[in-house]
Amino acid sequence: MIYVYLNYPNRQATVHHDSTCPHIRQAHKQGQRTAKINLARISEELGKFADKQYTFASKPSRNDIWLEIDSRDADFEKAVAAYVLRLAGKHYKPFRELGLQTHCQSNGVSVSNVVAQGV
Ligand SMILES: [Zn+2]
Repeated sequence: MIYVYLNYPNRQATVHHDSTCPHIRQAHKQGQRTAKINLARISEELGKFADKQYTFASKPSRNDIWLEIDSRDADFEKAVAAYVLRLAGKHYKPFRELGLQTHCQSNGVSVSNVVAQGV
């Protein structure tokens, strides 16, 4: 399962693999929108992005969304996240040509720590 944070005005798409990552909790605000995408709901949820049912604007209730993508296959989950970005980008320019940034891995090691250690 991955957690992906999309921010519209800031042009941000951040992937969290570690469910205990403090950023996931910190970034949740009151009334936070979350799209739960699993194999049973994938076509329904992707359709909402394709059909512009998820709208984005520069106000707190519409400026971001969390994707919770659960397919038990990390590569597929990241591909789904990239596809969501492409679908949203058809309606919203800030999401166009926006790459996914990995924030943390599932073993709890943050990506920035890995880089610092030269691994
Ligand atoms: Zn994280």
